[in-house]
Amino acid sequence: MPRARNRWERATQVLRWCEANWPIGRSVSIRWVPRIVEDGEEFDADTGRDGRRIIITLSERLNRSWRETADSVIHEYVHSLQWPVAGPTEDALDDHPVEFWAKYGEIKNQFMYHGGHADAAEFDRE
Ligand SMILES: [Zn+2]
Repeated sequence: MPRARNRWERATQVLRWCEANWPIGRSVSIRWVPRIVEDGEEFDADTGRDGRRIIITLSERLNRSWRETADSVIHEYVHSLQWPVAGPTEDALDDHPVEFWAKYGEIKNQFMYHGGHADAAEFDRE
């Protein structure tokens, strides 16, 4: 089992686990930055798009533990999953409608109580 050695590797494993179970059909990648600050407010994570590619940005400052990191990846993954291909390329993700939390709850439940955290350790770390 290719055990993650740190939160950076763990983030990638959780992302690959999400993709295997809830495929998007588009490339999703993770990028880490020291902090995410927008209009004076600090965020733990963000999702953006570059053409058809989806990029999840994670704050090193606000994702210190594996648990925080996994939670952020799952949260941003739901945004990625629910972002329509033909939709706007920016500012589509300010909202968290009920459908967002339904999908988040489904993935989180699988991750926490149905072996997802262990399954994620089977995925590539890079
Ligand atoms: Zn969100």
